[in-house]
Amino acid sequence: MQSDLIGKIEKAKRYAQEPERIKIRQFQATFQGGNDHIVSLENDQWNCDCRFFRNWQTCSHVMALQRILGPMLSHEARVAGRSYHSEVVADAVG
Ligand SMILES: [Zn+2]
Repeated sequence: MQSDLIGKIEKAKRYAQEPERIKIRQFQATFQGGNDHIVSLENDQWNCDCRFFRNWQTCSHVMALQRILGPMLSHEARVAGRSYHSEVVADAVG
């Protein structure tokens, strides 16, 4: 019984080193700062309640989460918002 649990813990440690095996399909977070913002992901579409997002379909909150969650996002969610302003930020994004 205990060896079963130890086996699962070892497996979990291996999984934790392979985040690309995980794909986040739905997500919601509060981004804390001067003003808190609610960022969400649903069907590979990001949303944020900040004003910048309304005009650009991306924002610093979404871009930060794209970097943090990178391998766990679908391709669409990982690149969402980039083509819209690709010329402007090509240098910054790299
Ligand atoms: Zn935002």
